[in-house]
Amino acid sequence: MNSIDDTALTPQPQAQKNRSNTAHSTTPTAQRHDASHAASSSPLPPSPTSVLKELFGYDSFRGHQAEIINTILLGHDALVLMPTGGGKSLCYQIPALLRPGVGIVISPLIALMEDQVFALLQAGVRAAYLNSTLDYNAVLDIEHRLRHEQLDLLYIAPERLFSERTWSLLARLNIALFAIDEAHCVSQWGHDFRPEYLQLNALIDAFPHVPRLALTATADKRTREEIRERLGLSKAKTFISSFDRPNIRYWIQEKSTSPKQQLVQFIRSEHAGDAGIGYCMSRKKVEQIAHDLRTEGFRALPYHAGFAANIRAAHQRRFLQEEGVIMVATIAFGMGIDKPNVRFVAHLDLPKSLEAYYQETGRAGRDGLSASAWMVYGLQDVMLLRNFTAQSTATESHKRVEHHKLEAMLAFCETTACRRVQLLNYFDEAYPEDCGNCDSCLSPAATWDASIAVQKALSCIYRTGQRFGVNYLIDVLLGKPTERITQFGHHRLSTYGIGKELSPQQWRSLFRQIIARGYVSVDNTQYGSLQLTADCRPILQGKTSVTLRALREVRSRSSVNKPKSFLAQFNEFERQLWLKLRAVRQSLANEQKVPPYVIFHDVTLKDMVEQRPQTPHELLALSGVGEHKLKNYGESFLAVLRNTWDEHSIP
Ligand code: ADP
Ligand code: ZN
Repeated sequence: MNSIDDTALTPQPQAQKNRSNTAHSTTPTAQRHDASHAASSSPLPPSPTSVLKELFGYDSFRGHQAEIINTILLGHDALVLMPTGGGKSLCYQIPALLRPGVGIVISPLIALMEDQVFALLQAGVRAAYLNSTLDYNAVLDIEHRLRHEQLDLLYIAPERLFSERTWSLLARLNIALFAIDEAHCVSQWGHDFRPEYLQLNALIDAFPHVPRLALTATADKRTREEIRERLGLSKAKTFISSFDRPNIRYWIQEKSTSPKQQLVQFIRSEHAGDAGIGYCMSRKKVEQIAHDLRTEGFRALPYHAGFAANIRAAHQRRFLQEEGVIMVATIAFGMGIDKPNVRFVAHLDLPKSLEAYYQETGRAGRDGLSASAWMVYGLQDVMLLRNFTAQSTATESHKRVEHHKLEAMLAFCETTACRRVQLLNYFDEAYPEDCGNCDSCLSPAATWDASIAVQKALSCIYRTGQRFGVNYLIDVLLGKPTERITQFGHHRLSTYGIGKELSPQQWRSLFRQIIARGYVSVDNTQYGSLQLTADCRPILQGKTSVTLRALREVRSRSSVNKPKSFLAQFNEFERQLWLKLRAVRQSLANEQKVPPYVIFHDVTLKDMVEQRPQTPHELLALSGVGEHKLKNYGESFLAVLRNTWDEHSIP
């Protein structure tokens, strides 16, 4: 067994690559021996840190990465819970490079597999994937390379893994590790359940000595226990990271009469030119909003399950391969999209649960640079969600779970406390203080004692017979002499016209909040009529007071201390340089038909702008520049940098 000591390890990929393909070294010792000869450029055998630097261009490990890698290098199993963007991939990629044999990565998502393999090839790693998109010759080629130990990493879909052909091939190979990505797919409670994942425990008996690591970004305890049990990882060392995404700014506003305008204003002021995702509930709305954004001059594309597969694929490709595309989509879009520079996720409708919200917003800012999770919500959203669970045909226990999730989602929207604290709390994580990077922290919501107004609303519901919806009730409260009101004789009620101190918008906001808090319920069979619940009694009796969040008209520009995105911090010169570097990256990407971030991440381009490297050596010092990328792309970027310095006579 390998020792944890960095020195007793197997070859790094370049070293392996340099080996003659006919040198058929099957034992770890033989490989190690080989490596020390082949890796002539460096006198020391490769270590996790040297692979991190030379191949991936990073200086140090993050969080639990180093510990996880060492656990696998020692031949032990691991369960890794890390948020999106936390750096899970390196946790199996590096041990796969350092241990003898090929690392097998089981992944349910074809798009994600392909992306990862592109990125690895760019870094100079011998990686491939086996999935249904490959033709027969390509499969034969990969099988050949596997038999001849010419691959360090193989990505594979679970159903493929269990095909007789693959299984018997694997049985004859030297396997470095099994990495089970998106391990929460084994959980039947989650919405990503994949039956094939249940078969993965067959790996235990078939490959008892191969370390296995399961990875997921799903935070809740129940899923964690299911993974452990179903994948036979009861003895595995568990690594739980904080699920905080510090670079994401949570920003939630009440819907105005034109949510589209709110969205446009948000993108213009915070994310001009950025790539983002806009989530809507319905297909119709997706198409409408995408169209509206295009009319406003944005590069927006629609995506939902109603489009033909080729259109969806084309839109997805444009989102990945072009800069600054906004995808307006239903939740059908997003799984397996690991574009690192999605700068914002905008929700135009409420997600069904905080789990969904966390997962969807988590697609922003994987690269660690500042990003926004923005959402507008209104009365309609709250009523819709309330109806949704009321109509549910689930079992009682499942309904209770749904109900709990809904309450949490609504409370999150309505809270005046720090959003991050509340979000992490929901996932059983204590966050020590207010975050300073959410709307509650940056622009605290005003509250008011709404006890009297709420009493008026409740009594209006009661006196009109609990048969009317919000709009009608507001008309009564405001004393509007409409035909319907006269028809029902409600102009004679004591509650007619008793609410003139508030505007219609303020009443809507009030109704939204009392529905969200469950003081009243919405009857969906009666066109959304409101009914009192037992919870409102103490309020009507004047025994409890009610504090509500005050309506804010527009508040996007109001906060002065808002953290700015890095682009906003650039001066004009830097912005121009940034655009030039991005253009080089785009053309390099186009040549190979890969997404630009596969060439270099935004973080690396940002470093180029800020650090102004002039030599290959200086370029290599930047985050994300490894030897292989330096060789392939260094000169293209250095040329732009040098030109710019010359043009501006910067020494
Ligand atoms: P996950 O799979 O957990 O969502 P990734 O593995 O895709 O996350 O990593 C997220 C981003 O962080 C990637 O851009 C990756 O290159 C980068 N990254 C990972 N580990 C490090 C590190 N130690 N130093 C710098 N960047 C890192
Ligand atoms: Zn906060």
